[in-house]
Amino acid sequence: MHRFFVEPECIWESSAVVVGPVARQVARVLRMRPGDPVILLDNTGWEYMVRLESVSSTRLDGVVIEKRRGTGDPSVLITLYQGVLKSDKLETVLQKGTEIGIAAFAPVFCQRSVIRAPRTWTDRRYPRWRKIVMEAAEQSERSLAPHLGPLMTWEQALASSQGVRLMAWEGDSETRRSGDGSARSGFREAIVGNMDRIREEGLSLFVGPEGGYDPQEVEQARDAGITMVGLGRRILRGETAGLAMASAVMYEAGEMGG
Ligand code: SAM
Repeated sequence: MHRFFVEPECIWESSAVVVGPVARQVARVLRMRPGDPVILLDNTGWEYMVRLESVSSTRLDGVVIEKRRGTGDPSVLITLYQGVLKSDKLETVLQKGTEIGIAAFAPVFCQRSVIRAPRTWTDRRYPRWRKIVMEAAEQSERSLAPHLGPLMTWEQALASSQGVRLMAWEGDSETRRSGDGSARSGFREAIVGNMDRIREEGLSLFVGPEGGYDPQEVEQARDAGITMVGLGRRILRGETAGLAMASAVMYEAGEMGG
């Protein structure tokens, strides 16, 4: 059944009135008719089963048949602090990360982000990114859309991050070759060993941009108490690392059961 996030004020007691883009999509694209069922979401975790009573490209009227709690939202709250990537890569992270169950995305401008003039760059793309996240949440049957934070500086990301905080750092080739564990923990150990805290306090995952982290950023993160973690012997792209980490956390949290 088709699902749509709508403004909470569209749903009132046993009736629903929806105007704007959702009405146009239902009438023109999906060609739905009176009597058809849809699910409306107010982005508070509730789902409303609605029977359409009238359908036009400007307005939908419906009757709320049932109100129930959504079941598609994750039990662990992951915030991905993603070093800003080229737009198409970042859009992949937003879409796939939403499907996997990430609760919030924080784009972070890093020293080695390839984007110049990040403020105007993000402002121009933000509405499209928001749409990608909302549509991915509808498609994956979540009833809470992930939060998409504003572009952050490195300092803001360190200051705002909460819960268990892990930074994916592939280390320099020396670290990798020597297998020097003192420089980094293994991601698996870090997750398994902190699962209770992650459930209670949430998890902040840091992933660098295409060019990786600047040594100064690594040092500042360590000074802020953030744990460096390795993701194994292969080097993942910036748009892969966060998705791989979030999937592993969901698996460990039992979210990939039946
Ligand atoms: N140094 C990388 C290279 O040689 O291509 C550039 C950074 S990598 C493309 C992007 C980000 O993914 C890194 O900043 C890090 O956060 C994460 N990452 C990728 N592979 C990793 C690994 N094996 N261990 C830890 N983090 C990794």
